[in-house]
Parts: sequence; C-alpha cells; structure tokens
Amino acid sequence: MVVAAAVAISASATVGFRYYPYELKLRHAFNLASMSRTATPGVQVEITIDSIIGYGEASMPPYLGESVESVTAFLSKVDPERLSDPFAMERIHSYLDSIAPGNRAAKAAIDIALHDLTGKITGQPCYRLYGLDTDVMPSTSYTISNDTPDELLRKLAESEPYKVLKVKMGVPGDRELIEWIRSRDDRPICVDVNQGWKSVEEALDNILWLAERNVIFVEQPMDKADMEGHRRLRELSPLPIIADEAVQTSADIPALAGAYDGINIKLMKSGGLHDAYKMALLARALGMKVMIGCMTETSCAVSAAAQLAPLADWVDLDGNLLIANDLFDGMKIVDGRVWLPEYPGVGVSPITNVNH
Ligand code: MG
Repeated sequence: MVVAAAVAISASATVGFRYYPYELKLRHAFNLASMSRTATPGVQVEITIDSIIGYGEASMPPYLGESVESVTAFLSKVDPERLSDPFAMERIHSYLDSIAPGNRAAKAAIDIALHDLTGKITGQPCYRLYGLDTDVMPSTSYTISNDTPDELLRKLAESEPYKVLKVKMGVPGDRELIEWIRSRDDRPICVDVNQGWKSVEEALDNILWLAERNVIFVEQPMDKADMEGHRRLRELSPLPIIADEAVQTSADIPALAGAYDGINIKLMKSGGLHDAYKMALLARALGMKVMIGCMTETSCAVSAAAQLAPLADWVDLDGNLLIANDLFDGMKIVDGRVWLPEYPGVGVSPITNVNH
C-alpha cells in the first residue's frame, strides 16, 4: 500500500522552525482528584523542510511541571539546523537532551513534528514505518466525570460508540458516580485514581468494591513515590494496577516491574514517539500490560499517539474530543476503536478555518 508518493528533499534544504502558544478550550469542565479546569495551555510546533511541514504539539498538564513559558524557553534554545535530517531520531534526541534533561513536552512537540516529516517524506503513516498492524486496534475508553444529572445523562449518551468507560476516582462522589453508571449501563469501566487514595488499606477497600462492578483495571491508585505500597497492593488486588504518574520514560520501567501490572504511555511524558515505542517493547518484555494515553490536546498529539495504538492492550485517546477548538483533522473513534486516516506522518491535516 502506498499512501502518498515519497518526496525528494534537496541537499540544500532549509529548515523552518515555528512555535506558538495555543490555548485549548474544554467542552466540559475536567475534574481530577486535585483540581477542576475549563481551559488548558498548549504550544504548537511546525518544522518545515523545503516546503514540507511537520506538525507537532506540546501540552502541559500541571502535574508534569511544564508551562507555556518553560516549553517556549526550551524551544528558543533549539538550533533548527540540528533538525534538518528528521530520520536521525537518536542523534536529535541526544542533542535535545544536551540542552536540558527534562522539558519532555517540548521534546515531544519536536519529536512529533519530525515523525510527521519522516512520514510525509516517505509517503507513509508512522504506524507503517514502525511496522504495526492497524487491524488489531484496541478499544478506546470514554471518560465520564462527575457532573449535574442532566450533564451526566448527556455524557452517557455521547459515550454510546465506546466499548469501555473511564471514571476518575479519589474525588468526592466517586462511588456514587460508579453506582449511577452501573444502574444504567453494563459496559466495562476502567478507573483512574490520579494518586488520590492515601493508603494500601483505602485502595484495597475501594478495589474490592470495584471488582464486583465490572471494572477492568485501576490506574495510579496511590502516590507515585510509594513504590512499596503499590507492591503490597498489587499482591492483594484482584484487579490489574497500572502506573501513570509513576512512569514517564523507558528508563523508569524496570523499577516498576513487580509494583504494577502495566504502564500508561503518554507522549508528553516520554518526549515523543521515539521513546514511547521503546517503552511499549520494554514493558512487554517484562510481562507488563501496555496502555497508551494522552493529555488534553489537539488531534495532532492524539493522532501521533494513535500511530502506536496497535502496541497497546488498552488505549485512552479521547483528549482531542474534549476540546472545542481543534486545529487538526486526524484520528477518529469508529465503533469504539481508534481509526487512523490515510494521511502520511502522524495522520493529521490542518483545519484552516480555525482562528488562531
Ligand atoms: Mg491517568
């Protein structure tokens, strides 16, 4: 299958590098254990080689410690000429790490744009460059957060195409929300606690309750630093325990084996697809489950993550559906599963009539 013709790059190609903040407006307030928000910051990146544009994006949930200021400060230090061969991913990541060790959302933005370029230059979507099979796409989940009864009914109706629901716990009214859903709907639920439970005893009490309510796994039940607590909990828990906040890059994974049953990979934690791919392979080699998630971000970063979806047992890629001012057309959810358009690269096409 040839998706698009390969494009020749001239030896004297000039590299364009542009980035700008872009605030994402949320369609519904987003409630986590620690806060509630109605908009979230982002930074869009474009790397241009000859006339080919690679699109990338950084999103900055507060818990990762990045901001528009930290991302743009990092990007301002990047020499665009060092990005001129987008296939030299190892070398470019080493260069980016030499600028600063962290700033992984900023690095993810560059990595996504480079992947978009390699795909556009070769005329292939990234999943094909990684040799992945999109016939085995996992189901994706739809997040339902606590709200007024009318809003909850609307969200439940909107979730209709999805085969799995996701509920945040560790917030007031969480068990009531699960009961409310269970009285109307029998689809499996995955639970994300965002470190909200304070002890093994509290976590186990909740997990035993959830295990009787068709819940399939529990994500980050306790403080990410409490490795010993998660190790004890995992031995007692009838449900798989998935690490999210406790895992950022492939370097974190070996220490998590035994304390968690799986990992949630996100491009903004890993610094892009390059390390995310390594994370999936390493987790599998250690017998762990693989989940691929996203932040609240446009279809650019979500479609990029979706390129690796065939590597996952579960995906949670609805971040683009939560925003009202998407800049891109890209991945879709069809019959509850990730569907990728035939665009080369990370699988997006810009929407031109958005004001920004
Ligand atoms: Mg999570």
